[in-house]
Formats: sequence, structure tokens, C-alpha cells
Amino acid sequence: RTVNVDLGERSYPIYIGSGLLSHIGQYFKDHGISLNSPLMIVTDDHVAPHYLTLLEKLLLEAGYDTVSKVVKAGETSKSLSVLEEVMTTAIEGKLDRNSTVIALGGGVVGDLAGFAAATYMRGIKFVQIPTTILAHDSSVGGKVAVNHPLAKNMIGAFHQPEMVLYDLDTLQTLPPRDVASGLSEMVKHGLIRDGDFARWCREHASELLALDPEALEYGLALGCSIKADVVSRDERENDLRAILNLGHTIGHAIEAVAGYGEYMHGEAIAIGMAGSARLAVRLGRDASIYDETVSMLQSLRLPVTMSSHLSTDDIMDAMKHDKKFREGHMLFIIPDSIGSVSIVKDIPEQLVRETIDQLREGGE
Ligand code: NAD
Ligand code: ZN
Repeated sequence: RTVNVDLGERSYPIYIGSGLLSHIGQYFKDHGISLNSPLMIVTDDHVAPHYLTLLEKLLLEAGYDTVSKVVKAGETSKSLSVLEEVMTTAIEGKLDRNSTVIALGGGVVGDLAGFAAATYMRGIKFVQIPTTILAHDSSVGGKVAVNHPLAKNMIGAFHQPEMVLYDLDTLQTLPPRDVASGLSEMVKHGLIRDGDFARWCREHASELLALDPEALEYGLALGCSIKADVVSRDERENDLRAILNLGHTIGHAIEAVAGYGEYMHGEAIAIGMAGSARLAVRLGRDASIYDETVSMLQSLRLPVTMSSHLSTDDIMDAMKHDKKFREGHMLFIIPDSIGSVSIVKDIPEQLVRETIDQLREGGE
């Protein structure tokens, strides 16, 4: 399957399927990736043992010179100091203006390598080889970034890849919690734009959790195309693109307060989506929105409540520091039904507090 991300002259395809990696040489040649300039592969130390040697070998066979940079797995590698190490590899490897950076890994490697590609010599080509389900989200839209110790994703750029090569075979080694975490963004895409797809995710939850290739191919393609459609209407996040943040206002705050690591991103936004559904009902939307949202998330083995040690005050504070806190308004994406959402600005703070209270384990 191929999903096209339609962005005028920055358009690019996402190829999704099993066994794609073995044809990487052909894909690169078809996309005009030059044989005369070295490529740099950026990956992490969980992914490298499984796929780096294979990728290097395939590219060598296709006639490409490569250098590789393996960073430590985890969010801490999205930092300026690791970016500097990546740049060192690029300079020592003699990457030039026609070189390409390849991100082999999940969203962390994608964001880091993408930002390196966006800034090395003022911008060189970039190819993503996502190896997580969550990366179906991060591989669409061209947002690339590293974190600042004071704020996540604060140093970044928009840089679209030449193509995305999503080889489903690489997902087979993904740990179960990462599988569920990635499926959280998948069902999110259904919840914002396509109720039938959200229901499909629930009905096929066991296949998805078991990494069944057919279910994955369909789910990832639909998730990517929903995101691609939203992004192509609003590349630079002026308005519509904000709907992709369903569950993220609360979710990011939970991640920040709990300390990165306790919750995976997809888990935190699952709790956030349960929170948005609660808010929706309190704002007068149909009560079934909450019940259905929760049943979808639970079928994917995602949490819908948060640990009791997280305080409402801390979460409220964290939300106020979020980038999405625009002009003094807390921005919430609120479901109107399963499959459509609205951007709502002025929800009374007391209502938000009560909703956060209810999200605590055992709090009803
Ligand atoms: P990740 O890249 O840290 O991957 C999760 C874990 O799985 C890591 O430990 C990784 O080493 C391991 N892993 C990856 N692929 C594997 C495989 N095939 N087999 C075994 N282990 C594997 O995290 P993620 O969940 O993919 O992405 C989260 C990041 O993505 C965050 O930093 C987030 O900010 C970013 N993100 C960016 C965008 C965007 O639009 N740019 C969108 C969503 C998320
Ligand atoms: Zn997200």
C-alpha cells in the first residue's frame, strides 16, 4: 500500500508493507537518492542489533556508501548534545549537500535524525524507516525536533522526508507496551476523523496487538492517510492541525508530571482521550461518547485512568505551561461524536479540575 502525503512540491509517499526493506536500493534510485554522496543512518541501540547490519548491507549492495550513528534508546537522545554527536558523524562521514539522512527507528530517532537533516548544511534530504507503530504518526507532517531540558520539542523545524519506507517485518520485535502505545495514536486518528475506523480498531484489537501483518497494513495506512489529509490542509498548524492533539493537552501534562518514563506517550494520551471524552459529556455531548472511547482504548490494552499519586494542581500547572496554551486559553480538542471533534477554548477551569480528579484511579 502507498499513502501519498500531498504537500505540493514537498509531497512524498509512505510505502507500507512486508519485505520492503530488501528493495531499498530500488526505492532509493527511484527517488533520485544520489550514489555519489554518502548516506548517514541514525538509529538507536535497541533497533540497531535487529536491523542496522541488514540495512547497511542492503545499501552497500545497492552501491551506496553509508556511515551510521547509534544513539541510546529513549527520549533523552532527543537533545542538543546528542544532535551534536550526530552532526559530528555527518561531518566526519563527509556528508555533502546531496547526502541523505536515514532515520531507522521510532519517533525519537525520526525527530532527531529529521532535525539533523533539516539543519545540516541548511537542510539535506531525509528518509524515514519507521520501526514503531507510533511512528506512523511522527512520519507524517514533517515536524522534527529535539527537546530542551525545560520543554519538550522546543527546538525544531518543519522538514518533509523524501519518502517513508514502512516495512511491517521490522515491527515484529517491538515490545508489547510499545505496540499498545502506538495503537493509541492509531485509534486517535479514527476518533478525530473516522468513527468507522475507530470501531475497526476495536474490532481488530487482538490482531493489531498480535502484530498481524494484514491488520497492521490496513490500520497504519488508514492512520497515516487521516493524518496526511489533516496535515495537507494545514501544514503549519494554524488551526485544523490542532485536532491531531486530541488527548494531548492532558496527556502531555501527565507525562511531564509523572516524569518521562512512567507512562509511554501513547498511554498518557489514552488517559488524555478518556479525559476529553469525559469533558465532552460534561459539556453536554452524548454520554455514549465516553463509554465508547473507553471501550476502544481498553480493547487496545491502554489505560484510561492515571496513578493516584499525580496531583490535580500539578497537572493543571503543567497544562498551563504547554505550547498549546495559547494566548492564555487552554485549548481542548473535544469529541462531538465518535469520529469528529471540535477545538474548544474557554472551558471553565473548575470543570477541567473536576475532570482531572475523576481520571485518578478509583476516582469516580
Ligand atoms: P521511540 O523511538 O523511543 O521507540 C520506542 C522504543 O522502542 C525505544 O526503546 C526503541 O528503541 C524501541 N524500538 C523501536 N523500534 C523497535 C523495534 N522494531 N524492535 C524493538 N524495539 C524497538 O518512541 P516512539 O514511541 O516511536 O516515538 C515517540 C517519540 O515520537 C516522542 O519523542 C514524540 O515526541 C515523537 N513524536 C513525534 C511526532 C511528530 O509529528 N514529529 C508525532 C508523535 C510523536
Ligand atoms: Zn502524540
